[in-house]
Amino acid sequence: MEVTPELPVVVIGGGIAGLTAAREVRRRHPGRQVLVLEGSDRVGGKLRLEEVGGVTLDVGAESLLARRPEAVDLVRDVGLGDDLVHPATTKARIWSRGRLCPLPRSVMGIPGDLDDLRASGILSAAGMARVEGEPGLPRKILDGDLSVGDLVVDRFGTELLDRVVEPLLGGVYAGHAREISARAAIPQVVALLAGNPSLLHAAEDSLAAASDDPVFAGIVGGVGRLPQELARGLDVRLGEPAIELRRTPEGFRVLHGSAYRPSSVDAAAVVVALPPPNASRLLGPLAPAAATVLAEVEVASMAVVTMAFAAEQFPRVEGSGFLVPPVDGRSIKAATYSFRKWDWVCRAGADKGLVHLRASLGRHREERELQRDDFELVDTVVVDLAAAIGLQSGPVDWHVQRWGGGLPQYAVGHLDRVARIRSAVAAVPGLAVCGATYDGVGVPACIASAVAAADQVDRHLGVSGPQGTMGP
Ligand SMILES: Cc1cc2nc3c(=O)[nH]c(=O)nc-3n(C[C@H](O)[C@H](O)[C@H](O)COP(=O)(O)OP(=O)(O)OC[C@H]3O[C@@H](n4cnc5c(N)ncnc54)[C@H](O)[C@@H]3O)c2cc1C
Repeated sequence: MEVTPELPVVVIGGGIAGLTAAREVRRRHPGRQVLVLEGSDRVGGKLRLEEVGGVTLDVGAESLLARRPEAVDLVRDVGLGDDLVHPATTKARIWSRGRLCPLPRSVMGIPGDLDDLRASGILSAAGMARVEGEPGLPRKILDGDLSVGDLVVDRFGTELLDRVVEPLLGGVYAGHAREISARAAIPQVVALLAGNPSLLHAAEDSLAAASDDPVFAGIVGGVGRLPQELARGLDVRLGEPAIELRRTPEGFRVLHGSAYRPSSVDAAAVVVALPPPNASRLLGPLAPAAATVLAEVEVASMAVVTMAFAAEQFPRVEGSGFLVPPVDGRSIKAATYSFRKWDWVCRAGADKGLVHLRASLGRHREERELQRDDFELVDTVVVDLAAAIGLQSGPVDWHVQRWGGGLPQYAVGHLDRVARIRSAVAAVPGLAVCGATYDGVGVPACIASAVAAADQVDRHLGVSGPQGTMGP
């Protein structure tokens, strides 16, 4: 098929992945129009800012993994480098059996320091003995994929899974460890297993060799500033959901806007940067095999409740917040003391005599928990905080952000599913996909997938523009 030079490249979805893909394509092809169609009334997707108690802060993603280059490089690239900061503390707790226990050092929950784990008091004596016995187990040879839960229970027993690994994983995927793919979600742990017959010893070695560089970064004013900066200078159409994608002799036709009176735009190439159900619907007619597999990727819904409290009434707390194991039967999944974690939040709140924190609720297939109105969700959080930290006053202001279908679930076999999606998409020249569905839900992974989508567009347009400064 001949590529018509004057047709634009259309990116569907204005989250971090779509905006990054659009920026990359435009940078590599300065003469070509790049259009972003965003269905909602603002850019950013899960990166979102709201005002609570007079302070604007993140109500979606709030920290960036700094051990990977993509996110921090992009922050610098868009001119926010001077506002890059690291958390004041990342020392989290686990709220379990009514106590706030220090989170022991680990590689995604795999203990790397037995003394630390013992001192944390999270595990019972029997649970601790099971972990200590791991080096005596026969070596595990991984053939294919298995769930994180199966892997951890096999090596360390149920208690470590339930009390440490599950809450950690819940924080990232809002999912269930017994369903989530070990190869997709904890590849670093799978790699450790390949190199050492004992996962415990491998984790100890890995932590001993770990650098002291900060693991996470943030942006003064919130990571929600990143998509806003990215969108500057891009041609973004808000409130324009793509509703149909068709093939034409020259490339593609994208129908967008109202389903009753849609507008259309012809494109030389299209990047679909949408959550799995939305991508599945759009790709159905064009790449049915990809659409079918995308429909298999389930999503979890959650809510983030951000609250401001009068500083003088707020109890004294330690660390950056706490995670809650589902076995403890509480409503909240995690709480982050934003005012302790981020100095800029602390300063902004202090000016008003306030402290800010956020709590998250909701796990995969537990949507019922969220089917309460905002006031009830706030009350639920306050009740749990009263039990966890002795909170005795209500918030002076709050915001409830619901993230329906907010996190794709990387179920066992995810890598294979992604390979099948990519191969079906690659069979349609000029089509590319990116975003949280594919190579990781974290912001750096989404950015990397967007750069890969831009590479695919390059190959189709037949122009090798200047290569990315922020490639993986
Ligand atoms: C509560 C929460 C907290 C998180 N915290 C962190 C964190 O601290 N650090 C981290 O690294 N990651 C975090 N994540 C994960 C990360 O934020 C997301 O995985 C990532 O932002 C997803 O980006 P995306 O561009 O793939 O998708 P999205 O952000 O979902 O963007 C997709 C966009 O497409 C739009 N859209 C949908 N349908 C259409 C259509 N038909 N046409 C046009 N547009 C459409 C949507 O409105 C949206 O703007 C968090 C996620 C959640 C939900």
